[in-house]
Amino acid sequence: MKFYNIKEHNEQVSFAQAIKQGLGCNQGLFFPMALPEFTLTEIKNLLKMDFVSRSACILAAYIGDELSPERIFARVESAFVFPAPVVAVNENIAALELFHGPTLAFKDFGGRFMAQMLTEFGQEPVTILTATSGDTGAAVAHAFYGLENVRVVILYPDGKISPLQEKLFCTLGGNIHTVAVKGDFDVCQSLVKQAFDDKQLKQRLGLNSANSINISRLLAQICYYFEAVAQLTQQSNNQLVISVPSGNFGNLTAGLMAKTLGLPVKRYIAATNSNDTVPRYLSGGFWRPNPTVTTLSNAMDVSQPNNWPRVEELFLRKNWQLDTLDYGCIDDDTTAETIRELATLGYVSEPHAAIAYRLLREKLKPGEYGLFLGTAHPAKFKDLVEQILNQRLPLPPALAVRAALPILSVHILPQFSELRQYMLSIL
Ligand SMILES: *Cc1c(COP(=O)(O)O)cnc(C)c1O
Repeated sequence: MKFYNIKEHNEQVSFAQAIKQGLGCNQGLFFPMALPEFTLTEIKNLLKMDFVSRSACILAAYIGDELSPERIFARVESAFVFPAPVVAVNENIAALELFHGPTLAFKDFGGRFMAQMLTEFGQEPVTILTATSGDTGAAVAHAFYGLENVRVVILYPDGKISPLQEKLFCTLGGNIHTVAVKGDFDVCQSLVKQAFDDKQLKQRLGLNSANSINISRLLAQICYYFEAVAQLTQQSNNQLVISVPSGNFGNLTAGLMAKTLGLPVKRYIAATNSNDTVPRYLSGGFWRPNPTVTTLSNAMDVSQPNNWPRVEELFLRKNWQLDTLDYGCIDDDTTAETIRELATLGYVSEPHAAIAYRLLREKLKPGEYGLFLGTAHPAKFKDLVEQILNQRLPLPPALAVRAALPILSVHILPQFSELRQYMLSIL
């Protein structure tokens, strides 16, 4: 299938091209030309399959003309090496836990599949260069760790990320190179930009950004919505409402795409923190981003969500009304209160999932069944959750092992010449 640029419909590229390019011209996002649909019987059969086999079938609906079923299966099998369990919280609400991957967040699904696709379609060795303020770096590092023909260079602000975050991706070694920069995150980002502007460096290393708007991430994320329904065939019964904690709105886009494929979901709730550009837009009709504010759910501190154009495109293409999308925002006090409420139900959570749960339980109608996405492991927000609940949280074993390993980063001054020299030295 071809993918077109939402901003320049004439720019139409193959899947291979779309993932290598990331963005189209004019910073436009790629979107599938066709929105495939499974029949009721096909859906029924899909829901009986195991996670990997089913996910390979779903992805084949979009990329089957460029990759054989066997190759897709092999790549999915390498990417999705951890489960996505549905855990009941009470009699009509459950959590879909997407945080059992190596970096304890749902971004492992999209990141690992993107890494598999970039290596599948890339002929020459590539160098993934990215700057991180913490989380994305870890997801990228683990997604590409040990893959052939790929080097990864991750810049981060020295001393400005949490010790645990640093341990998570700076202890891997091998093809993962981590660089602690004496400066802040903006400095790191500007060094990355300079590297991409350096034609000689770009060509010699085969630089690629593996960024978060890559269409391969969205396609991968469709798969766990099917996995949730497969685990809930009894309860959901065409009355399923799914609440998605949203920042850049990639996760919600994937959920809506699952619905276009025929997955029985009654409606979605777009759940945000106080960065409420989308809820305000959906209630009043104006798109007016405010300055971004810092909240407890910091992975959702986004006031200009970069995947929103895809959501609008999808509603347009399906002739769906935007007012069928449910929405709401939750402030920090209510988030903390909700983490305590969930704990009394026997479920230890974290701020992102708590926001999704809160809006779900406020908006669920009699007869409906609710599912909220658990996007991060509570241990990822250990200090915060411990403080809110006044109780100690154990580290998951995988993280405890990492925490004991030495940091392998090199240290540089915030000068491009230093970065350049280092990057050429790893060739
Ligand atoms: C990235 C992230 C989100 C937001 O997901 P989007 O796809 O950007 O809307 C929510 N929760 C956590 C923990 C995240 O890391």
